[in-house]
Amino acid sequence: MHLKERLQSDAGPTLSFEFFPPKNEQAAAALYQTIRELEPYRPSFVSVTYGAGGSTRELTHEVVLRIQNESRIPTVPHLTCVGHSREEIWNILDRYAQAGVRAVLALRGDPPRGVEHYDRSADAFRYAADLVACIREYNESGRHPDPDGFAIGVAGFPEGHPSTPNRLREMDFLKAKVDAGADYICTQLFFDNHCFLDYRERCLLAGIKVPVLAGIMPVTSLSGMNRMAELSGGTCFPARLLKALKRAGGNAEAIQEVGIQYASSQCAELLDAGVDGIHFYTLNQSRATRQIYRNLGLRDSLQLLEHGEDK
Ligand code: FAD
Repeated sequence: MHLKERLQSDAGPTLSFEFFPPKNEQAAAALYQTIRELEPYRPSFVSVTYGAGGSTRELTHEVVLRIQNESRIPTVPHLTCVGHSREEIWNILDRYAQAGVRAVLALRGDPPRGVEHYDRSADAFRYAADLVACIREYNESGRHPDPDGFAIGVAGFPEGHPSTPNRLREMDFLKAKVDAGADYICTQLFFDNHCFLDYRERCLLAGIKVPVLAGIMPVTSLSGMNRMAELSGGTCFPARLLKALKRAGGNAEAIQEVGIQYASSQCAELLDAGVDGIHFYTLNQSRATRQIYRNLGLRDSLQLLEHGEDK
């Protein structure tokens, strides 16, 4: 089923997994092992991130095609404005279209890490909304073998994006992405469900009616949590989570259990609140996601679909 159709149906929430392109052969073997372990959970789709520049960008393409060909799971490549001309974007879309890819997550992207005063003057698109408009134009050109073209996802930030402190303006910019043609929003990771649920309401108030998928990343280590705090730009770590991690007393196994339990209770609450979908940031590992499914009593993602039809 095309992701556009799946998102518009009453078939219950989507459950999806995110991976990043591996940087060496060992990491590649670990990723494909993870995918084999997660395949029986029948995700609604999986997505593959796009690096801030250099060789990993080509890897995204390789990983997307390999997952799609070997597992038949619908695969969504991320694509960014940063470092691309319009012609390059068009060529990338052509390659994906010919390979049977039917969805893209359209992002602005960030400059490569550590590069100060990054020159974006050669980039064809300044903001994600411009890239969304380009993909929509591509869809309308009829070049995609599927008449529905690409489903288009965009990023959302329940706790705000660091470069727009004005939260009202930020909603206008999000609305512009949807008006340009986005079919769904996938959020940045968060640990406070109230933030997400409030964000969802603010989207509705702003006239944004597309599905909003909740980004969930379980804490699996304290160093990982510190990295997340650094990279995610303003994520709140609630006292309830920090207290539970403190009780684990530095025991690596116990910390991972606490992180998985916490994420499981977040997911249960979100499902009860009628979330449109949950997107798991897997960090290319399967254990936490598998355990969360078990804690939710889920055999696979299709079980929610059956449940959705019962409602
Ligand atoms: P935009 O929607 O363009 O917004 C960027 C900033 O500009 C925001 O602060 C916004 O409020 C502001 N803005 C938007 N329009 C205007 C306007 N017209 N005038 C003034 N300000 C405006 N990065 C990667 O490099 N590769 C990835 O694979 C990747 N995957 C991601 C997946 C998810 C689910 C998420 C949430 C983020 C991901 N990112 C990725 C990070 C993302 O690229 C950065 O957070 C980036 O800074 C913002 O991207 P955006 O698509 O939201 O940009």
